[in-house]
Amino acid sequence: MRVLILGGTTEASALARRLADDTHFEATLSLAGRTAQPAPQALPTRIGGFGGIDGLVRHLRDEKIVAVIDATHPYADQMSAHALAACDQAAIPLASLVRAPWMRQAGDDWIQAVDTRAAANAIGRNPRRVFLAIGRQELPVFADAPQHHYLARVIDAPVGGALPPNLTLVQARGPFDLAAETALLRDRRIELVVSKNAGGDATYAKIEAARALGVPVIMIARPDKPAGYVTATSEDAVAWLGHVRRSLRGV
Ligand code: NAP
Repeated sequence: MRVLILGGTTEASALARRLADDTHFEATLSLAGRTAQPAPQALPTRIGGFGGIDGLVRHLRDEKIVAVIDATHPYADQMSAHALAACDQAAIPLASLVRAPWMRQAGDDWIQAVDTRAAANAIGRNPRRVFLAIGRQELPVFADAPQHHYLARVIDAPVGGALPPNLTLVQARGPFDLAAETALLRDRRIELVVSKNAGGDATYAKIEAARALGVPVIMIARPDKPAGYVTATSEDAVAWLGHVRRSLRGV
Protein backbone atom coordinates (compact mmCIF):
# COMPACT_ATOMS: atom_id res chain seq x y z
CA MET A 1 0.00 0.00 0.00
CA ARG A 2 1.62 3.24 -1.18
CA VAL A 3 1.73 6.00 1.42
CA LEU A 4 2.94 9.60 1.27
CA ILE A 5 4.21 11.26 4.45
CA LEU A 6 4.48 15.03 4.44
CA GLY A 7 7.40 15.61 6.76
CA GLY A 8 9.95 18.03 8.12
CA THR A 9 9.38 17.22 11.80
CA THR A 10 10.69 14.89 14.50
CA GLU A 11 7.37 13.02 14.39
CA ALA A 12 7.57 12.49 10.62
CA SER A 13 11.06 11.02 11.03
CA ALA A 14 9.80 8.76 13.84
CA LEU A 15 6.94 7.63 11.62
CA ALA A 16 9.41 6.97 8.78
CA ARG A 17 11.43 4.71 11.11
CA ARG A 18 8.28 2.80 12.09
CA LEU A 19 7.22 2.26 8.47
CA ALA A 20 10.67 1.45 7.09
CA ASP A 21 10.48 -2.22 8.14
CA ASP A 22 6.73 -2.66 7.77
CA THR A 23 6.14 -4.77 4.67
CA HIS A 24 2.46 -3.76 4.47
CA PHE A 25 3.39 -0.26 3.40
CA GLU A 26 5.56 1.32 0.74
CA ALA A 27 6.01 4.83 2.08
CA THR A 28 7.78 7.92 0.78
CA LEU A 29 8.69 10.95 2.85
CA SER A 30 8.29 14.41 1.35
CA LEU A 31 10.31 17.41 2.59
CA ALA A 32 9.84 21.05 1.66
CA GLY A 33 13.59 21.49 1.19
CA ARG A 34 13.92 24.20 3.84
CA THR A 35 17.35 22.95 4.98
CA ALA A 36 20.34 22.44 2.70
CA GLN A 37 21.34 19.16 4.34
CA PRO A 38 18.30 17.42 5.79
CA ALA A 39 18.88 14.81 8.50
CA PRO A 40 19.14 11.25 7.09
CA GLN A 41 15.77 9.49 6.91
CA ALA A 42 14.70 5.86 7.15
CA LEU A 43 12.49 6.06 4.03
CA PRO A 44 12.98 7.09 0.40
CA THR A 45 12.70 10.87 0.35
CA ARG A 46 11.56 13.40 -2.24
CA ILE A 47 12.33 17.08 -1.76
CA GLY A 48 10.55 20.27 -2.88
CA GLY A 49 7.04 21.63 -3.43
CA PHE A 50 4.49 19.76 -5.55
CA GLY A 51 3.26 22.87 -7.36
CA GLY A 52 0.16 23.72 -5.34
CA ILE A 53 -2.99 21.66 -4.95
CA ASP A 54 -3.10 20.59 -8.61
CA GLY A 55 0.52 19.47 -8.48
CA LEU A 56 -0.15 17.41 -5.37
CA VAL A 57 -3.24 15.80 -6.94
CA ARG A 58 -1.08 14.87 -9.96
CA HIS A 59 1.62 13.46 -7.69
CA LEU A 60 -0.89 11.35 -5.73
CA ARG A 61 -2.29 9.92 -8.97
CA ASP A 62 1.07 9.39 -10.72
CA GLU A 63 2.53 7.65 -7.66
CA LYS A 64 -0.64 5.63 -6.99
CA ILE A 65 -0.72 6.88 -3.40
CA VAL A 66 -3.62 5.42 -1.38
CA ALA A 67 -3.14 7.24 1.95
CA VAL A 68 -1.44 10.47 3.08
CA ILE A 69 -0.15 11.42 6.51
CA ASP A 70 0.43 15.12 7.09
CA ALA A 71 3.20 15.31 9.68
CA THR A 72 4.32 18.82 8.81
CA HIS A 73 5.37 21.53 11.27
CA PRO A 74 2.54 23.19 13.26
CA TYR A 75 3.24 26.47 11.40
CA ALA A 76 3.25 24.89 7.91
CA ASP A 77 -0.43 25.69 7.35
CA GLN A 78 -0.30 26.11 3.58
CA MET A 79 0.99 22.58 3.01
CA SER A 80 -1.76 21.25 5.27
CA ALA A 81 -4.46 23.19 3.42
CA HIS A 82 -3.13 21.83 0.12
CA ALA A 83 -3.04 18.29 1.50
CA LEU A 84 -6.66 18.48 2.64
CA ALA A 85 -7.87 19.88 -0.70
CA ALA A 86 -5.80 17.49 -2.83
CA CYS A 87 -6.79 14.38 -0.85
CA ASP A 88 -10.40 15.47 -1.11
CA GLN A 89 -10.13 15.86 -4.91
CA ALA A 90 -8.32 12.55 -5.31
CA ALA A 91 -10.61 10.78 -2.78
CA ILE A 92 -7.62 9.62 -0.73
CA PRO A 93 -7.78 9.34 3.10
CA LEU A 94 -5.68 11.85 5.03
CA ALA A 95 -4.49 11.69 8.63
CA SER A 96 -2.65 14.49 10.40
CA LEU A 97 -0.05 14.03 13.09
CA VAL A 98 -0.72 16.99 15.37
CA ARG A 99 1.87 17.92 17.97
CA ALA A 100 0.37 19.34 21.18
CA PRO A 101 1.33 22.96 21.89
CA TRP A 102 3.35 23.96 24.96
CA MET A 103 1.16 25.16 27.82
CA ARG A 104 2.05 28.12 29.99
CA GLN A 105 3.38 27.00 33.40
CA ALA A 106 3.86 28.76 36.72
CA GLY A 107 6.82 31.11 36.32
CA ASP A 108 6.37 31.55 32.57
CA ASP A 109 6.11 35.18 31.45
CA TRP A 110 4.52 34.85 28.00
CA ILE A 111 3.31 37.68 25.80
CA GLN A 112 0.97 36.33 23.13
CA ALA A 113 1.38 37.61 19.55
CA VAL A 114 -1.05 36.71 16.76
CA ASP A 115 1.71 36.48 14.16
CA THR A 116 5.36 37.33 13.52
CA ARG A 117 4.67 40.99 12.71
CA ALA A 118 2.75 41.39 15.96
CA ALA A 119 5.70 39.77 17.75
CA ALA A 120 8.11 42.32 16.22
CA ASN A 121 5.81 45.17 17.35
CA ALA A 122 5.47 43.69 20.86
CA ILE A 123 9.22 44.04 21.53
CA GLY A 124 8.55 47.75 22.03
CA ARG A 125 10.26 51.03 21.16
CA ASN A 126 13.27 50.83 23.46
CA PRO A 127 16.26 48.81 22.23
CA ARG A 128 16.30 45.29 23.70
CA ARG A 129 18.51 42.24 23.34
CA VAL A 130 16.25 39.67 21.67
CA PHE A 131 16.69 35.96 20.96
CA LEU A 132 14.81 34.98 17.79
CA ALA A 133 14.09 31.25 17.84
CA ILE A 134 11.74 31.22 14.85
CA GLY A 135 13.80 29.77 11.99
CA ARG A 136 15.08 31.86 9.12
CA GLN A 137 12.07 32.47 6.88
CA GLU A 138 10.50 35.33 8.83
CA LEU A 139 13.67 37.13 9.99
CA PRO A 140 13.11 40.01 7.49
CA VAL A 141 9.98 41.00 9.46
CA PHE A 142 12.28 42.22 12.25
CA ALA A 143 14.03 44.65 9.87
CA ASP A 144 11.07 46.93 10.61
CA ALA A 145 12.14 47.05 14.27
CA PRO A 146 15.82 47.91 13.67
CA GLN A 147 16.49 49.43 17.10
CA HIS A 148 16.93 46.03 18.77
CA HIS A 149 19.94 43.71 18.98
CA TYR A 150 18.94 40.30 17.66
CA LEU A 151 20.47 36.89 18.15
CA ALA A 152 18.82 34.50 15.68
CA ARG A 153 19.32 30.75 15.69
CA VAL A 154 18.97 29.10 12.29
CA ILE A 155 19.96 25.82 10.66
CA ASP A 156 21.03 27.48 7.40
CA ALA A 157 21.91 31.13 6.82
CA PRO A 158 18.95 33.24 5.60
CA VAL A 159 18.67 34.00 1.88
CA GLY A 160 16.77 36.96 0.45
CA GLY A 161 14.95 39.77 2.20
CA ALA A 162 16.43 42.69 4.14
CA LEU A 163 17.58 41.55 7.57
CA PRO A 164 17.65 43.70 10.72
CA PRO A 165 20.91 45.67 10.99
CA ASN A 166 21.97 44.44 14.44
CA LEU A 167 21.68 40.72 13.83
CA THR A 168 23.97 37.94 15.02
CA LEU A 169 23.35 34.47 13.62
CA VAL A 170 24.02 31.22 15.44
CA GLN A 171 23.80 28.17 13.19
CA ALA A 172 22.66 25.05 15.07
CA ARG A 173 20.21 22.19 14.70
CA GLY A 174 18.16 20.91 17.67
CA PRO A 175 17.56 19.19 19.98
CA PHE A 176 18.87 21.70 22.53
CA ASP A 177 19.36 21.05 26.25
CA LEU A 178 18.54 23.20 29.24
CA ALA A 179 22.12 23.84 30.38
CA ALA A 180 23.18 25.06 26.93
CA GLU A 181 20.04 27.20 26.48
CA THR A 182 20.47 28.78 29.91
CA ALA A 183 24.11 29.57 29.13
CA LEU A 184 23.14 31.03 25.75
CA LEU A 185 20.50 33.37 27.21
CA ARG A 186 22.76 34.41 30.09
CA ASP A 187 26.02 34.84 28.14
CA ARG A 188 24.30 36.86 25.39
CA ARG A 189 22.43 38.94 28.01
CA ILE A 190 19.09 38.16 26.34
CA GLU A 191 16.17 40.24 27.65
CA LEU A 192 13.40 38.75 25.52
CA VAL A 193 12.82 35.53 23.58
CA VAL A 194 10.62 35.34 20.47
CA SER A 195 9.36 31.82 19.84
CA LYS A 196 6.76 29.84 17.94
CA ASN A 197 4.67 27.45 20.01
CA ALA A 198 6.23 24.47 18.27
CA GLY A 199 5.42 21.96 21.02
CA GLY A 200 7.47 18.79 21.55
CA ASP A 201 10.70 18.24 23.46
CA ALA A 202 13.40 19.13 20.94
CA THR A 203 13.20 22.92 21.32
CA TYR A 204 11.45 23.29 24.67
CA ALA A 205 14.62 23.95 26.69
CA LYS A 206 14.72 27.62 25.65
CA ILE A 207 11.28 28.07 27.25
CA GLU A 208 12.47 26.40 30.46
CA ALA A 209 15.66 28.49 30.43
CA ALA A 210 13.66 31.70 29.98
CA ARG A 211 11.41 30.68 32.90
CA ALA A 212 14.41 29.96 35.14
CA LEU A 213 16.09 33.28 34.28
CA GLY A 214 12.90 35.35 34.44
CA VAL A 215 13.15 36.28 30.75
CA PRO A 216 9.80 37.05 29.02
CA VAL A 217 8.83 35.09 25.90
CA ILE A 218 6.84 36.57 23.03
CA MET A 219 4.92 33.50 21.86
CA ILE A 220 3.68 33.61 18.27
CA ALA A 221 0.26 31.93 18.03
CA ARG A 222 -0.17 28.84 15.92
CA PRO A 223 -1.88 29.37 12.57
CA ASP A 224 -5.23 27.76 11.91
CA LYS A 225 -3.93 24.56 10.34
CA PRO A 226 -6.38 22.32 8.47
CA ALA A 227 -6.24 18.64 9.38
CA GLY A 228 -7.56 15.28 8.31
CA TYR A 229 -8.10 12.48 10.83
CA VAL A 230 -6.15 13.72 13.85
CA THR A 231 -3.52 11.47 15.44
CA ALA A 232 -1.17 12.45 18.25
CA THR A 233 1.74 10.01 17.86
CA SER A 234 3.54 8.12 15.12
CA GLU A 235 2.17 4.92 16.69
CA ASP A 236 -1.42 6.19 16.28
CA ALA A 237 -0.67 7.15 12.68
CA VAL A 238 0.52 3.59 11.92
CA ALA A 239 -2.64 2.22 13.57
CA TRP A 240 -4.70 4.51 11.30
CA LEU A 241 -2.82 3.18 8.25
CA GLY A 242 -3.64 -0.35 9.38
CA HIS A 243 -7.30 0.62 9.57
CA VAL A 244 -7.19 2.12 6.04
CA ARG A 245 -5.47 -1.00 4.75
CA ARG A 246 -8.08 -3.30 6.25
CA SER A 247 -10.96 -1.20 4.91
CA LEU A 248 -9.43 -1.21 1.40
CA ARG A 249 -9.19 -5.01 1.56
CA GLY A 250 -12.75 -5.17 2.82
CA VAL A 251 -11.83 -7.00 6.06
P1 NAP B 1 4.02 26.11 4.22
O1 NAP B 1 3.92 27.58 4.27
O2 NAP B 1 2.92 25.32 4.78
O3 NAP B 1 4.27 25.59 2.74
C1 NAP B 1 4.69 26.41 1.66
C2 NAP B 1 4.92 25.51 0.48
O4 NAP B 1 6.09 24.72 0.69
C3 NAP B 1 3.81 24.49 0.22
O5 NAP B 1 2.72 25.06 -0.46
C4 NAP B 1 4.54 23.44 -0.57
O6 NAP B 1 4.78 23.90 -1.89
C5 NAP B 1 5.89 23.42 0.12
N1 NAP B 1 5.96 22.42 1.19
C6 NAP B 1 5.81 22.60 2.53
N2 NAP B 1 5.99 21.45 3.19
C7 NAP B 1 6.25 20.52 2.24
C8 NAP B 1 6.54 19.13 2.30
N3 NAP B 1 6.62 18.44 3.47
N4 NAP B 1 6.78 18.48 1.12
C9 NAP B 1 6.72 19.14 -0.07
N5 NAP B 1 6.48 20.47 -0.17
C10 NAP B 1 6.24 21.14 0.96
O7 NAP B 1 5.35 25.62 4.97
P2 NAP B 1 6.84 26.25 5.05
O8 NAP B 1 6.97 27.41 4.11
O9 NAP B 1 7.82 25.14 4.89
O10 NAP B 1 6.93 26.71 6.54
C11 NAP B 1 5.96 27.49 7.18
C12 NAP B 1 6.35 27.67 8.62
O11 NAP B 1 6.67 26.39 9.20
C13 NAP B 1 7.57 28.53 8.80
O12 NAP B 1 7.27 29.36 9.89
C14 NAP B 1 8.67 27.59 9.18
O13 NAP B 1 9.57 28.18 10.09
C15 NAP B 1 7.92 26.46 9.85
N6 NAP B 1 8.68 25.20 9.71
C16 NAP B 1 8.61 24.48 8.56
C17 NAP B 1 9.35 23.30 8.48
C18 NAP B 1 9.33 22.45 7.20
O14 NAP B 1 10.00 21.43 7.18
N7 NAP B 1 8.61 22.83 6.16
C19 NAP B 1 10.14 22.88 9.55
C20 NAP B 1 10.18 23.64 10.70
C21 NAP B 1 9.43 24.82 10.75
P3 NAP B 1 3.79 23.53 -3.12
O15 NAP B 1 2.59 24.41 -2.98
O16 NAP B 1 4.62 23.83 -4.34
O17 NAP B 1 3.46 22.08 -3.02
